[in-house]
Amino acid sequence: MSATESVNVLGLDPAALQALVAQWGGKPFRARQLSQWVHQRGVDRFDDMSDLAKEFRAQLDAHCIVQAPPLNLEKRSADGTRKWLFDMGLGNAIETVFIPEDDRGTLCISSQAGCTVACPFCSTGYQGFSRNLTTAEIVGQLWYANRALRDDPQAARLNGPAEDAQRAVSNVVMMGMGEPLLNYDQVLGALRLMVDDHAYGLSRRRVTVSTSGVVPMIDRLARDCPVALAVSLHAPNDTLRDRLVPLNRKYPLAELLDACNRYLEVAPRDFITFEYIMLDGVNDADEQARELIEVARRVRCKFNLIPFNPFPQSGLKRSPTARIRLFAQQLTDAGLIVTVRKTRGDDIDAACGQLAGEVKDRTRINERLPDRARVVIRKKEHA
Ligand code: SF4
Repeated sequence: MSATESVNVLGLDPAALQALVAQWGGKPFRARQLSQWVHQRGVDRFDDMSDLAKEFRAQLDAHCIVQAPPLNLEKRSADGTRKWLFDMGLGNAIETVFIPEDDRGTLCISSQAGCTVACPFCSTGYQGFSRNLTTAEIVGQLWYANRALRDDPQAARLNGPAEDAQRAVSNVVMMGMGEPLLNYDQVLGALRLMVDDHAYGLSRRRVTVSTSGVVPMIDRLARDCPVALAVSLHAPNDTLRDRLVPLNRKYPLAELLDACNRYLEVAPRDFITFEYIMLDGVNDADEQARELIEVARRVRCKFNLIPFNPFPQSGLKRSPTARIRLFAQQLTDAGLIVTVRKTRGDDIDAACGQLAGEVKDRTRINERLPDRARVVIRKKEHA
């Protein structure tokens, strides 16, 4: 192993870390100690890991690094929301958002630079697909955020005692850029670290994978690492969903709902969260609410209605507040549990993919790499 091939410890799931340590004759508990230093205390210098044997530290120093993706830009909102833009090379950027609330701190992380699914309300879809993130790049967002939030009074207040404030993130949602289940292996490694007691130690209920509906991978996730599942539904029937979530043409609603029911057999929560973006005149009519109620009868679920976050080229509008309220009321009257997502970080371009899109526009990557260019005017809602 040469210095140029240094292994990034952030990318090693618990089994891989044990295997690395074992090749130097180390026992599993050494791997656990190392994991605690890196993931729980946020230490990146092996020399500072004081209870590790000197020779072990020397081995680590020679062969490993602890490195999050380079930061491109940071924005802070007046409401406490923080957004980081990480440089992924070749003019690509990804976004990570921290949303503090009274009883939790939620980190929204990205799994791909760009996305192939191309939903027409999504600015990430508009940027096309560049590449999958590695486990180190996915976990690196969480590692970086926990370190950055140590000195954030809002995050520290939220978590009470000083030692907990070292890990201000209490919930992770994979709702940033990309379709996580189309980068399955790398995402799985990251999930295993998030729920590992010697790494981030998050309960499976507090880690959510949000998918547009990659049916075979929902089944695999159920077997490999069942965490909370959210599904970007956005439409109550195949005709409309084919347009709003093009992956529906491959995995139509009936198949998706069956997969949700299979997932529920092992899920850490006893419901699936259906996300439904509120688009004026597109999917917000009374009739569509009635259709949605029929869909909901087929799966134990909760609804999260998301007011669309419009921006210049979208051609789509947010449903008026009164319409969203009526739509929600129809679902509630049918006995469903419904929340309407609060808009957060409005003053820092919280529409997911928006900042990254600006970076990409500045670098004009699509002109420089014409074979990969696929600019379609698309917009994204995750915020
Ligand atoms: S909404 Fe999600 S799945 Fe659809 S294009 Fe955007 S990132 Fe991809």
